[in-house]
Amino acid sequence: MMSEPRAVATGFITFESQPVWLFSFSPKQSARRKRTSRMFRSLTVLALAAVTACAQPPATQTFPTPTVHTPGTIKLTYVGNEGVLISDGTKAVLIDGLHRKYDDDYLNPPPDVLAAMEAGKPPFDQVRVVLVSHVHGDHFSAESVGLHLKNNPKAVLVSDAQKMGDIARLYADHALIRDQTAELTPAWKQSIAYEKDGIKVTLLGMKHGSDRFWWIKNLGHIIEIGGKKLFHFGDADNTMENFAAFNLAAEKIDIAFIPYWFLLNENGRKLVRETIAAKHNIAVHISPQNADADAANVKKLSPGVDAFTKMLEERSY
Ligand SMILES: [Zn+2]
Repeated sequence: MMSEPRAVATGFITFESQPVWLFSFSPKQSARRKRTSRMFRSLTVLALAAVTACAQPPATQTFPTPTVHTPGTIKLTYVGNEGVLISDGTKAVLIDGLHRKYDDDYLNPPPDVLAAMEAGKPPFDQVRVVLVSHVHGDHFSAESVGLHLKNNPKAVLVSDAQKMGDIARLYADHALIRDQTAELTPAWKQSIAYEKDGIKVTLLGMKHGSDRFWWIKNLGHIIEIGGKKLFHFGDADNTMENFAAFNLAAEKIDIAFIPYWFLLNENGRKLVRETIAAKHNIAVHISPQNADADAANVKKLSPGVDAFTKMLEERSY
């Protein structure tokens, strides 16, 4: 981890972990020269530290550090795996962000980001709607969702009976957050709409990929916020039947989040292109072990597709 530039007493500043010397000091200087030198030194250190601090963004973004939001746009902040904060500048949806470390194959939120999410600190204090695609540990932690709701009373979890059941079973303070839950359970191929604070969410009943997870309820979500329409479908099974009932092309989706394996074969790419037919596609669920190569491969196979690979990277639309 690199740290922000900082002034230190010994007369240099560090920038991107490299010491940058500002002056040299000879022990033979007269007392007066030493006084002048000390004063000059302090001023130089302060001035250069200030200039450096203003001119350079922090080498590593630490939380909480919300960035400027361009009015009239929505801003996406990637919080790992399939987790995204979707903000219109004053209010936000947090989907699949509230989970803990699963294993090293997944981009898990690091401790500072997880703590900010669970505590509802900026920018997560904007969250009004919390969504969860499914209860696997790379998308959901009952404890993390419970803590966020407890610490951000304006937020509501909108989800199906399986998520609510896990929270009741696994989050000790669930009685405190019961009023902040809206249980909606669409059957497979069915949808249910919900609206709060100008945010509209349509929950779609979809199947999770792989037969061994037949018992996992996977929700798709169409999210309308700040004049944009976004589609997030968790780890839905990559079959036409799982998507066809929702008539997604007619929805005219602006931004779709695509688990990157959909883009590795022609069936998946066709589904993304023709059945979802979003204006912009962002590949997600890319393992940090091979992120650059996987993202490059996906972009080569589907020109124009974007990819999230780095914690807290942002996009505006
Ligand atoms: Zn997953």
